[in-house]
Amino acid sequence: MSLLSVGTVAFDEIETPFGKTGKIVGGAASYISLSASFFVKQSNIVSVIGDDFPIDFLEGMKDRGVNLDGLQIKKGENSFHWSGKYHYDMNSRDTLETNLNVLADFDPVLPESYNDCQFLMLGNLSPDVQMRVIEQLENRPKLVVLDTMNFWMDIAMDKLLEVISKVDVLTINDEEARQLSGEYSLVAASRKIMNMGPKYLIIKKGEHGALLFNEDKMFFAPALPLEEVKDPTGAGDTFAGGFIGHLAKTKDISFENMKRAVVVGSAMASFTCEAFGTERLLTLTKAEINQRIKKFVDLVHFNID
Ligand code: AMP
Repeated sequence: MSLLSVGTVAFDEIETPFGKTGKIVGGAASYISLSASFFVKQSNIVSVIGDDFPIDFLEGMKDRGVNLDGLQIKKGENSFHWSGKYHYDMNSRDTLETNLNVLADFDPVLPESYNDCQFLMLGNLSPDVQMRVIEQLENRPKLVVLDTMNFWMDIAMDKLLEVISKVDVLTINDEEARQLSGEYSLVAASRKIMNMGPKYLIIKKGEHGALLFNEDKMFFAPALPLEEVKDPTGAGDTFAGGFIGHLAKTKDISFENMKRAVVVGSAMASFTCEAFGTERLLTLTKAEINQRIKKFVDLVHFNID
C-alpha cells in the first residue's frame, strides 16, 4: 500500500520559553514521513530543497525507507525557511518569518514509480502544488488527507477551497477551522467544512487533544499530559504521519479505524513536543510508541456501573 507524502522540507528557527534554536531541519514532509516510517516500511516524498540542505538528514530519511526520487534539489537556491516564536501558552505561536525561496516557483513532478499511490498525504505547502500533485496521479488514491494552515488561507483561499473539495480527510487546528468556516462553535464549523468536500474532518487542539468528525459522528482523543514540553513545532505534521501511517499499515479506512489512527497520531505528536525539531523522532523506538499508545488508552479508560 504505497504512501506518498507532499510538503515542505525546510529550515526552521524556533524560540520557545525553554530555548532557542539556530537553523535546524524541519518542514511538514520531514515530520510526516519520519512519523509514518514507524508504520510503513516504504514511502515516497514530493518536495523541493536548495543545495544548502544537509545531506546527512536526507540519508537518514532514506535509511528509514523514505524514497526521495520526487525530492527536487535546486542548485544555487535556498531551501524554504520558517521561523516562529511560542509564548508561555504553547498552544499558539507567532510566525516571525516565512521565506518561500525554492517553494515560490516549485513545479512538482511525480516520478512514474509513484503512480500506484494508495494513500496520499498532502502536507502543508502551497495549494497550487497540492493540486498539481492530485492532477498527476493516474488513479485516485484510496484515501487523500490534506493538512494546511492559516498562511495559505490568507493568501490562496480560492485555490485551497478547490483542493479541499477533492480530499477525503482535512486536518486543521481549531483556529484554522474557525477561520475557514466563519463559525466559532467547532461542531457548527465541522458541518460547514464537511459540506466543502471532505467526509472526515480532524480538528487539532494542541495540548487539549483532537476531534474527529464524520457525518453526525464525533470522536475525541486527548493529548497526553507531558512532564516536559520543549517545542510543539511539527506536532501537527507528526500527527498526520502517524494517522495516515496507521491507516496505510492496516489498509482499513473505516471510522472505527480512524479513531485508532487519531490516537496513534496523538501518541506520535507527543514525542515530537519533547525535544526541539525532529530530534525526538530520530531516536524513537517502536517499543516506546507501543508503551505510549497504552498510556493513552489508560488515560481515558474507565468503568461506570
Ligand atoms: P506544525 O507545527 O505541525 O504546524 O508544522 C511546523 C512545520 O511547518 C515547520 O517545520 C515549518 O517548516 C513548516 N511550515 C511553516 N509554515 C509553513 C507554510 N506556510 N507552508 C508549509 N510549511 C510550513
